[in-house]
Amino acid sequence: MLTRGCVRCSELAATRKTVVFGAGNADADVMFVGEAPGASEDEQGVPFVGRAGKLLDQLLGEIGMERADVFICNTLECRPPGNRDPLPIEIENCHEYLLRQVELIQPTVICTLGNFSTKLLRGDPTGITRLHGQPEVRMIGSRAVRLYPIYHPAAALYTPRMLETLREDFARLPELLALGAPEQPEYVEPPELPPAPDQAPPAPELERQRGQGESGPAEVDQLGLF
Ligand code: URA
Repeated sequence: MLTRGCVRCSELAATRKTVVFGAGNADADVMFVGEAPGASEDEQGVPFVGRAGKLLDQLLGEIGMERADVFICNTLECRPPGNRDPLPIEIENCHEYLLRQVELIQPTVICTLGNFSTKLLRGDPTGITRLHGQPEVRMIGSRAVRLYPIYHPAAALYTPRMLETLREDFARLPELLALGAPEQPEYVEPPELPPAPDQAPPAPELERQRGQGESGPAEVDQLGLF
């Protein structure tokens, strides 16, 4: 998946310095999904390296974790000019990239930071003020995860009460991780495809060959029929 040259959002492609792909531990059990890169992230090509990122590092440290333990990504991989809110079409354009990262990392817990990622991954407009700190099992792509919405650290930077709440919600993360992965839906075997028409012998011939033995003759075996 190459997002580096993505031009799905013409304005973002024209104004960004870098495409900021998710970063961190590819084996992480927990994935954080923020909103969009800011100026520092756009400059360095790494998510959450500015002030909000420093707070995220600090909150992780308070629960005995560090950045190297987690995977961090965003709803958008490009910085919206002037740090404006992501547009619905931009979120939609980037959604596939986010789902691909979930598929690759296979997290147990996805912590959505703030409104944008929470609304996107829940597929529902309910806001973070009502939902923060309440984990729920949700399907994200083909994977069942423990979705855990919490406030965005940028919002907590200037609001001490929000920071306290964020800290309390963070403190519950270890027990959530200790629950392990939720039960995954049963894998459904894709239906077997019939042989391509130019490979399949005519039906009566197939019957005749089947009569020649349990496993079928060598030339038919090569067709993958038996
Ligand atoms: N805020 C975000 O949502 N993401 C970043 O990468 C940085 C700040």
